[in-house]
Amino acid sequence: MNTKNCNIIVGIAAAPGLAHGRTIIVRKKELAVPEYRVEDTDSEITRLMTAVETSRDEIAEVKNEVSGRTRTNEAEIFEAHKMFLEDTDLLGRAEKGIKGGTNAEKAWIDAIEFFAQKMDQIPDETLRARAVDIRDVGHRVLGHLLGESLGTTPLTEPSIILARDLTPSETVSLNKELTLGYCTVEGGPTSHVAILAKGFGIPAVVGTGEALLEIEEGTLVLVDGSEGKVTVAPDDETLKSFIQRAEEAKNRFSEARKAAQKPAVTADGDRVEVVANIGGVLDAPLGVKNGAEGIGLLRTEFLYLDRNSLPTEQEQIDAYSAIFEHYLDKPIVVRTLDIGGDKEIPYLDLPEELNPFLGWRGIRLIEEMEDIFLKQFRALLQAGANATVDLRIMLPMVSGLAEIVSAKKLLNKAREGLKEEGKAFADPIQFGIMIEVPSAVLLADRLAKEVDFFSIGTNDLTQYTLAVDRTNSKVAHLAHPLNPAVLALIKQTIDCAHAEGKWVGLCGELAGDRLAAPILLGLGLDEFSMSPASVPEIKNVLRVLHKEDCQNVAKEVLLLTSAEQVREHCRAFLADLGIAD
Ligand code: PEP
Ligand code: MG
Repeated sequence: MNTKNCNIIVGIAAAPGLAHGRTIIVRKKELAVPEYRVEDTDSEITRLMTAVETSRDEIAEVKNEVSGRTRTNEAEIFEAHKMFLEDTDLLGRAEKGIKGGTNAEKAWIDAIEFFAQKMDQIPDETLRARAVDIRDVGHRVLGHLLGESLGTTPLTEPSIILARDLTPSETVSLNKELTLGYCTVEGGPTSHVAILAKGFGIPAVVGTGEALLEIEEGTLVLVDGSEGKVTVAPDDETLKSFIQRAEEAKNRFSEARKAAQKPAVTADGDRVEVVANIGGVLDAPLGVKNGAEGIGLLRTEFLYLDRNSLPTEQEQIDAYSAIFEHYLDKPIVVRTLDIGGDKEIPYLDLPEELNPFLGWRGIRLIEEMEDIFLKQFRALLQAGANATVDLRIMLPMVSGLAEIVSAKKLLNKAREGLKEEGKAFADPIQFGIMIEVPSAVLLADRLAKEVDFFSIGTNDLTQYTLAVDRTNSKVAHLAHPLNPAVLALIKQTIDCAHAEGKWVGLCGELAGDRLAAPILLGLGLDEFSMSPASVPEIKNVLRVLHKEDCQNVAKEVLLLTSAEQVREHCRAFLADLGIAD
């Protein structure tokens, strides 16, 4: 796309797709909180409870509407909102304020802020987003107490939404038929607007920084939710080529969906394994529906979040079994618990760290939290006991040999225990590690001797190689896995594994990037694992590639100096094959 005359704002790709249209700026309706003393505290409490009741009914309606529009679990956001309004700690705190003589509005907002500020302290981005939820609910109830309507700017024509941030209620209150795209100054890839936009199938770019709100209302913009770019006031040529790209992408997507269940066989006859990254029970059927030939990464954190204590062994067996049953006779790679970094579990009380990504995370917890990992190994081995389950277990964040040795010892302890107890379990299973720390790449020739496979986690490998915090929107644009430095590490990993006769997968976001497919195939990657939505398109791209040509592409890009050059090179290569991006 020629964009030389246009102003491009770079943010974070939050929901894929291309959209163009005129902008509308959505501003939060600020409600002032009155403060006064009350005598009749009983009727003040009734006033608050009526507002809470009305809000609860309203949220139930919103939840139903969202469930009807999305495929997966986006509506759960509103279930959580409803639950806040049933939370006895929250309601009790507000009631206590009123009993002390404070008016309902002030007592309510004080209680909301008390809990929201606690959430603000949590380092995990997903959990921190809960503070937005609590304040969103608080705002809704406050609106009812004040008799004010909360509706955001009503849309009258198809528009691209620009906002500082959008709460779930605001996002949902905007007419979806007239919303072409969402762009927000704040937010990360897991913010609410990102989750809802993906569910609605509407492109979104978040974390753009302040420049976004300098765009005047009514300006024509191009939103690229796949690359995280907003092009402001494009010239005719740029607009025309963008519209063409959007049209092609739409056609490509529906074509790919038709062939999703067929295997990905390259033009010269090589079968490539395309599998899915699964983050919970709800994603599992979606992977199968989109043609995934197994699971390349089961992120098990979902089992430990959203609760107040560790899951029991039986709870874990049940959850794993519910996922495995969708993938019988297909490879299933499960990653052991990967917490720390940006993934916090409040009830474990992990110490606060200055640099959580460089701290006590992933497999580094195994020695001191042996019980948690032992229980997980036991649950996995039992859930995989059926011969139709091809269970593989891998460790995250491995930086050297010692972690592999500890984990193997513990896995053996799990086996021994189950044997003694006469319980059925999976045996043998493949055992692998994720390659996401540069030291693991540099030791890959030695580590390959100790495991059955590697799976490259390019999300972390990129942040550690380029020294870029993956959750920091200020530097997010620097973190590109197509940087030749990262590609060189991928090559080294694959070469070392193959020299030992071991297979290599890749389960970072890069596996779902069409432009990366020729490079990864050329480097000899055995398994591509990606979000279920990307499976059909990547299969389609792999089908037109010749391995030998891709080996040349891989050699060429490794000599380049920037991710942008690599992108351009791959773009040109794919365009020659009739694949536009
Ligand atoms: C990765 O780091 O590439 C990866 C797949 O793991 P996660 O994104 O869960 O850290
Ligand atoms: Mg990772």
